[in-house]
Amino acid sequence: MRTTNLTRYTCDRCRTSTVMADGNAPGWHDVTRYRADSTTDSALLCEKCYSKYIDLAAKHDREYMQFMTTPDIDKEA
Ligand SMILES: [Zn+2]
Repeated sequence: MRTTNLTRYTCDRCRTSTVMADGNAPGWHDVTRYRADSTTDSALLCEKCYSKYIDLAAKHDREYMQFMTTPDIDKEA
C-alpha cells in the first residue's frame, strides 16, 4: 500500500507532531509576530500552543492600546 500527498506538521513550540493530508490540517496554525525592530517571526503551532499564543498576543494588544491612549503617563515618573 502506498499513501501519497501527506504532510508532517510539527509544532515549533512543543514539538508535537502529526501527519495529515495535504491542505487539510485542522488544529494547526501559522502565526506571524512583529518584533520590536519590525522584523517578523513565523511559527507553526498546534491547537494547544495556539491557544496560549492568542492569550499572549491579546495581552500585548492591551498593553499597546494602553501605551497609545495614555501619553501623559510618561510625565508622571
Ligand atoms: Zn504545541
